[in-house]
Amino acid sequence: MPICQLPGHLINQIAAGEVVERPASVVKELLENSLDAGATNIALDIQAGGQKLIRIRDNGSGIPRDQLNLALSRHATSKIASLEDLESVVSLGFRGEALPSIASVARLRLTSGQADGASQIEADNGTLSGPVPAAHPMGTTVEVHDLFYNTPARRKFLRTERTEYGHVEKWLKRLALARPDVAFAVTHNGRATMNLAAANDQAARLDRIRKICGDGFASQAIWISSETEGIALSGWLGLPTYNRSQADMQYWFVNGRSIGDRTLSHAVRHAYRDVLFHGRFPAYILYLSIDPSTVDANAHPAKHEVRFRDGRRVHGVVAQVIESALSETQPGKQQSAPVPHTPVSSFFHQSAMSLGRPTHSSSSGVRETLAAYRSMSDEPVSTAHENNANDIPPMGFAIAQLGGIYVLAENAQGLVIVDMHAAHERIVYEKLKVAFDDNEMIRQPLLVPSPFSVSESEAEIAEQSAELFARIGLVVDRSGPTSLVIREIPALLSSGDVESLLRDVLSDLQQAGTSSRVEDAHLDLLATMACHNSVRANRALTLQEMNALLREMEVTKRADQCNHGRPTWTAVSLDDLDKMFLRGQ
Ligand code: ADP
Ligand code: MG
Repeated sequence: MPICQLPGHLINQIAAGEVVERPASVVKELLENSLDAGATNIALDIQAGGQKLIRIRDNGSGIPRDQLNLALSRHATSKIASLEDLESVVSLGFRGEALPSIASVARLRLTSGQADGASQIEADNGTLSGPVPAAHPMGTTVEVHDLFYNTPARRKFLRTERTEYGHVEKWLKRLALARPDVAFAVTHNGRATMNLAAANDQAARLDRIRKICGDGFASQAIWISSETEGIALSGWLGLPTYNRSQADMQYWFVNGRSIGDRTLSHAVRHAYRDVLFHGRFPAYILYLSIDPSTVDANAHPAKHEVRFRDGRRVHGVVAQVIESALSETQPGKQQSAPVPHTPVSSFFHQSAMSLGRPTHSSSSGVRETLAAYRSMSDEPVSTAHENNANDIPPMGFAIAQLGGIYVLAENAQGLVIVDMHAAHERIVYEKLKVAFDDNEMIRQPLLVPSPFSVSESEAEIAEQSAELFARIGLVVDRSGPTSLVIREIPALLSSGDVESLLRDVLSDLQQAGTSSRVEDAHLDLLATMACHNSVRANRALTLQEMNALLREMEVTKRADQCNHGRPTWTAVSLDDLDKMFLRGQ
């Protein structure tokens, strides 16, 4: 066949292959157009999972009559006009290919109104008709009928109506979380499936999150908001004890765009590493704002990914902010989202409690603490009731030990139940970590330096990372283009498999641009030590020992969960008890 120029309609259909994978991609593109047009109210009607009809109506800026044809032309956009615009783009769209692509694989009708009247055009299999005058208020309606009617190959890939609608819903959720200030009303096959009023304050935003992510997340999430080095990070972090078996409740929005990004998800995983059970996933909704000229939004045809100019710095800031928020998951700290919420059903709910501050702090070492637990004298113990309520510490005073496992205590709100092994494990672990951080990493020279071969790029990374390696206790020399020699290793790791550790570190460095592997290995070691060090179940504690444990919990970071992410304590308020016993009803 000779080389020939493809017809425009076919070019659009080829582009549609990338941009329009299934009904959900159409919904995403149309919603993004409405948001870019400044809409505050969006109504969406879907028939048969989106294959039969997708109709979106917005109250945005509308499109002038003489530009309706352009809106359906390829590479035509009102959002950028130059390379400079592209490099600092803040709109969700900018490629100018969504509408023409959709119009090439479906029957499309575009109706738009502005102050001077409304018009409509239609596209069917590459033929445009219109514009003709129409009736429409300020804003735009796009109707997409019979998706893939003229591309049977594509149609074959469509799944059941339910599955397709499921994909639609995923995008609806993402965009509804991205823009809480916009109202969304959605129907599927005539039935209302989503109805969200505009949320303009924190309580309303949390309410939207409850509708989208469920009450479990909304009532066990911490609100964070920070600005460091020009990177603003805000959003909701699920408490470590609210974790999931899948990474299915993790939302990232970068400058308002919903994306999946390995740097960002790695940073969160890293921040949760110390408070989450292995194989469990945190839940979060996070918004990152950063100078748009430092983010490349044009890294993916459907813009599901971005590229950061300085991924390492973004990783560092995100991990640090989240880690420090999570370190406050300890008794007596404000943890929940800023709106108090007390569901009757969840009386095992730390975040619903408003607790005071710890009354005193302790700085004794691990050994002293254990000794103190053992040697405390039998001085009289006060109970919460004999005290002035203001003097009652957050974890209250011990009443009894139950089943050799639980410490029961009374605080100003009611009953506190502590898993003493889990709590003590965290206390000891945190102390070991502090001791570890304070001493310099102790290195141990290998008697026989151990050589091993790597790829050339790995050898280069190792050479470039000498400083980082030294900080984590590794001395590694390059002994040839593809060989390294390990000379010194962290004393704490002397019993481990050094070579495989180094290989993992190198591959981590290659992938994430940062390495947590060595640090994690240390933490695992410290955690194991802490576990062997802590109070075993079935050991009878005196009230004094129990109170000492409660006071330690109040001053220990991350004390709300053990090293494995299990909760260390829970509470039942007197109100909860009254409800359980139907008092005063
Ligand atoms: P892009 O969003 O990349 O610019 P599209 O093909 O999605 O490309 O849309 C083309 C143009 O049509 C947009 O740049 C915008 O000017 C206009 N447009 C599309 N949808 C709307 C809408 N809902 N309201 C106002 N203008 C719209
Ligand atoms: Mg667009």
